[in-house]
Amino acid sequence: MKTNPEDSIRHNVSIRKGDQVRVMTGRDKGKEGRVLSVDAYKRTVTVEHAAMIKRHTRPNPSKNIKGGIVEREGALAISNVLVICPGCGKPTRVGHKPLPEGSKPKRIRTCTRCGASLEK
Ligand SMILES: [Zn+2]
Repeated sequence: MKTNPEDSIRHNVSIRKGDQVRVMTGRDKGKEGRVLSVDAYKRTVTVEHAAMIKRHTRPNPSKNIKGGIVEREGALAISNVLVICPGCGKPTRVGHKPLPEGSKPKRIRTCTRCGASLEK
């Protein structure tokens, strides 16, 4: 497989593990779920019950792996999902609001529609 030099760069991504997101395009368009993992290098996320892929696994008794077909979440491009704002309940792009000097975190993520904080 060809390696992409971009894969070694850790991108700034606006989606965090645990966010509620909606899939905006592709096979699972319209599906909503929780983000299970974020890959900041590849700019992909896995979303609960979205982009399900079937893995055909060979049994390996020494590693206690059963053979067969396992369904699990596949990677989705971050650009294809939007965070659902807890304030207005709509999928939204993410804005950033700096917090006063010295506070932690330094800034929070906000909804670009209604301005509500997306942090929990
Ligand atoms: Zn909102």
